[in-house]
Amino acid sequence: MKSSIFSTVRAYLYDVYLRFRSIWGSLLTALPYLWGAGELRKEVTEQYPDPISSRTADDLPARSRGLLFNDIQRCTGCKECEKICPVQCIRVDTEAGSDPTKLWVARFDIDFSKCVFCGLCVESCHPQSLMHSRQYEGAVYELKDLVASFGRGYVTAEQRMKWAALRKQAESDEVYL
Ligand code: SF4
Ligand code: SF4
Repeated sequence: MKSSIFSTVRAYLYDVYLRFRSIWGSLLTALPYLWGAGELRKEVTEQYPDPISSRTADDLPARSRGLLFNDIQRCTGCKECEKICPVQCIRVDTEAGSDPTKLWVARFDIDFSKCVFCGLCVESCHPQSLMHSRQYEGAVYELKDLVASFGRGYVTAEQRMKWAALRKQAESDEVYL
């Protein structure tokens, strides 16, 4: 009986010893960082963005894929990008515009919260209006702010009538040429 109590106390004290040894070991690793003691124990956390050491857009490789940009004046509204996107994060709405050779792109939204930056949309864009920019920082506070809109807006009834008349005029001019 006496020996069993003795062995229990001994096991308990050994446990306490192990815990203290573990804490002391951690302190020996961490404390030198507190005072920056030694060449290898300097502060390693970088301020972000660090004006001196952080990378800029100019440091990116030539073929890097940054956030997408659509030059909406060149975009024809063909919707090839929307069709090819594997995650359906592009939404394009078009209407007939004043220019009979291309559509009016009322809405062109890209949801960067879904985009996987595969680049398929850029490759499928024949007018080359869609491109990867060199911008790679897109942090926002709310998910909805990750939707980038490049569209020209929905046309009014007045614009629609005016453009229909212009297209009709252009068609009849072609017939008489
Ligand atoms: S890069 Fe890929 S995932 Fe992103 S919008 Fe283009 S096709 Fe879709
Ligand atoms: S593929 Fe290019 S031109 Fe066609 S809708 Fe997309 S961005 Fe516009």
